[in-house]
Amino acid sequence: MPPTGSPSALRSANLERVVGVLRSAAEVSQAEIARRTDLAPATVSNIVRQLVSTGLVETSGGGGRRGLTVRIARGAGLVAGLDFGHSHLEVAVGDLAGRALVGTRRPLDNDHSHTEGLALAEALLDDLLEELGESREAVHAAGLGLPAPITRDGRITAGSILPGWVGVAAADVASKALGMPTLVDNDANLGALAEHRDHPDVTTLAYLKVSSGIGCGLVLDGHLYRGGLGTAGELGHVTLDETGPLCRCGSRGCLEAYAGGSGLVEQLRGRMPDLAVHDLVDIAVSGDAGARRLLEDAGRALGQGSAILANLLSPEAIVVGGDLACDIVVDGIRDGLRRHAVDGLGGEIEVRLSTLGDQASVVGALVTALDAVALPG
Ligand SMILES: [Zn+2]
Repeated sequence: MPPTGSPSALRSANLERVVGVLRSAAEVSQAEIARRTDLAPATVSNIVRQLVSTGLVETSGGGGRRGLTVRIARGAGLVAGLDFGHSHLEVAVGDLAGRALVGTRRPLDNDHSHTEGLALAEALLDDLLEELGESREAVHAAGLGLPAPITRDGRITAGSILPGWVGVAAADVASKALGMPTLVDNDANLGALAEHRDHPDVTTLAYLKVSSGIGCGLVLDGHLYRGGLGTAGELGHVTLDETGPLCRCGSRGCLEAYAGGSGLVEQLRGRMPDLAVHDLVDIAVSGDAGARRLLEDAGRALGQGSAILANLLSPEAIVVGGDLACDIVVDGIRDGLRRHAVDGLGGEIEVRLSTLGDQASVVGALVTALDAVALPG
């Protein structure tokens, strides 16, 4: 690595800034790259020429006021995204701009071992690559999401809802199994990353993943925030009532014990023995009063938790994704902010459903994989 401040360090920092802009936009004019990076037009022009010669980017147009239009080349290579949920695995293949090209989702038992999970991931990845007429050699790197707190040294802690991954150094085993560098992150962190990429003007946002459990990813001042120990955002285990119901984490009265989908469907088991978490919203919307009441109460609990976030972090937006994301829950969060956040703040914060739906984490996995792709030059 060249010393900071040396000409080659400066060149690689400039290159990174230009590639960063290209990864955040489908295509962009050379003039716009100069504007967004604060680099001189001649510097941008040199970097673009260098990137074209390596095959990473392609250009079109030229002449006229808009000048050259630049985009990441489709033929430059691919990245893979894997998202392990409580009971599913989602796999996608994207280009080097992090845009999904193909994807697939399969059910996966929550008590699978990590080797079983990775074997299925490999098989699905190879199927998708075949669909694209590509092989694994074309894939530069992978991103992998897990519904678990992940420490700075990459270990999955006992807070995971996937017991087969606890204690596993997930990035190491996944890199080995897939045969490519693999970056691992909490699934809600990846959702936050994907949402921020779609809404780059929002500098601070919280992404709430409301599914079997409650996840939370934080983007603070434009950057994903993992915290000093790596496990920031465990909003699901904030205590709302210390005499409340026992939570799977061993504590009592956690937000997740009131709003986590696994607990909610248990309450309807008597009437609906086969009910799955992802069916709950449909049942509530189609008129089941019990299901609707459960989601309303979950929304209120999430509102109480969101008010803590709002008071601490002052986010511009709270984005709701996951299997239970719906207007009933969003209304509950808005109401909770109004009741519990400091005066005036609740009305300022935009609370909305994720535009990426259940794809947020896998898209975030593609985006995070880009960090492991070596830049040319
Ligand atoms: Zn808990």
